[in-house]
Amino acid sequence: MQTFEYLKAASVDKALSTAGKFIAGGTTLVDLMKLNVEQPTALVDINLLPLDKIDKLPNGGLRIGAMVRNSDLAWHPDVKESYAVLSQAILSGASPQLRNMATTGGNLLQRTRCAYFREPTAGTPGGYGCNKRTPGTGCAALEGYHRMHAILGTSDHCIATHPSDMCVAMAALEAVIGVEGPKGKRTIPIADFHRLPGDTPHIENALEPGELITHVDLPKPIEGARSVYLKLRDRASYEFALASAAVMAKVEGGHIRYVRVAMGGVGTKPWRSHEAEAALADKPADAASFRAAAQAALANAKPRTDNAFKVELAKRCLVRTLKLATA
Ligand code: SF4
Repeated sequence: MQTFEYLKAASVDKALSTAGKFIAGGTTLVDLMKLNVEQPTALVDINLLPLDKIDKLPNGGLRIGAMVRNSDLAWHPDVKESYAVLSQAILSGASPQLRNMATTGGNLLQRTRCAYFREPTAGTPGGYGCNKRTPGTGCAALEGYHRMHAILGTSDHCIATHPSDMCVAMAALEAVIGVEGPKGKRTIPIADFHRLPGDTPHIENALEPGELITHVDLPKPIEGARSVYLKLRDRASYEFALASAAVMAKVEGGHIRYVRVAMGGVGTKPWRSHEAEAALADKPADAASFRAAAQAALANAKPRTDNAFKVELAKRCLVRTLKLATA
């Protein structure tokens, strides 16, 4: 790990005027610094910022401060009751110790677990090619180990999977991210926050230099809707998803009147499936509809040799999640 300067900020203004990389829980950043993937010359500790509250909004939604710890968010009564998919997603990720440290803002900025990306010499002469580490050096995963890699949203330059569970639930909930930076405040819908790799996989999100995530807003809960997160993985805990699904659905008279679908473990970003939603709209809440939605969700999948199994796994995951959410 390279040496760095350590600074603390007690206010958002102070954080924004201090040059350096923001650090909160550090559960991703410190790992990546030890691997030399991240090499900041200065860290700005933002743990003192007053962004650790969860508040109801006048419009019936919920505002989650960027510094709210994952555990506190998952166990908050309003989240458990009205946004169950989010609580379930967070509790399916990492370990209790990590969830106690990791923050909402940090989770949004999780970086991929691609083994080549995290290899200390990747992207350097003699190391594995990794366009995300060093643009133009290639992608070792394309012809290498890619069992865990993405099948949706990939490009010839990168097939890395987005690792977050929380973000998949937030995609289904249509969360909106609040940020503040040198040019002022703005909001970014979660669908626009994470970027597809395209030919610039090193640019992962819509944040401008110096911008800080301050909060995430969830819309007012849909009356009568039920939400579920299901995660399939190699072992029952402390493991990343091979495939996951977040579904929020409302059924009336046996038909699906409202549905939002997002998938994890299969996409280069938290994967909202408008195709599945279109296939389910006003259809009977039955096995045929669920299977048609799963077909639609994975129709554009581009598997490689070792992750081809994810296509059927993701379909079955979505079918089962739809069944649970509409039961
Ligand atoms: Fe790097 Fe992406 Fe290829 Fe992994 S999949 S080696 S992160 S370019």
